[in-house]
Amino acid sequence: MTRITLVQGDITRQTADAIVNAANSSLLGGGGVDGAIHRRGGPAILEDCRKLRAGHYGKGLPTGQAVATTAGDLDARWVIHTVGPVHSRSEDRSEQLASCYRESLRRADELGARTVAFPAVSTGIYGWPLDDGARIAVATVRETDTAVEEVRFVLFDDRAYEAFAAQLP
Ligand code: ADP
Repeated sequence: MTRITLVQGDITRQTADAIVNAANSSLLGGGGVDGAIHRRGGPAILEDCRKLRAGHYGKGLPTGQAVATTAGDLDARWVIHTVGPVHSRSEDRSEQLASCYRESLRRADELGARTVAFPAVSTGIYGWPLDDGARIAVATVRETDTAVEEVRFVLFDDRAYEAFAAQLP
């Protein structure tokens, strides 16, 4: 049974086996969580990302997929990069967002990670409404069969924390 916990704070300050990055498909860095992870984690993460781009992910990492690298100087063993969908009013991309959580947990299982810290994927620059993003995140983790013992959602501000808290009993 996976325990779901919530903390408010900066995901780059967390201690966990794996920290999930809300990356973009280039894997070469960006704003928000992505920028913070690369800044604090140091150049080793980008080096791994460049290798992925030179190899299997020449065209970038597709939306909804996840891939692991070193965590560099972060207090974790791995960073799992996942690419959330950009929110759209005309197209329902919920399944892609759910896939980010599912695929990240699948990578965590392959690595043997027992504690995984997630940000609220897609709810920043990618514009996903926070309440719906929280609902999809919590429901997907609950529905996923995984050996991960703790999924910790790390929420940056009060509003995000409250949105996730509303999804838990
Ligand atoms: P996306 O492009 O997937 O929307 P963002 O990084 O812009 O990704 O935002 C995802 C969520 O992470 C937002 O709710 C944002 O407020 C939050 N966030 C930004 N920086 C951090 C951080 N250092 N730690 C945890 N959450 C963060």
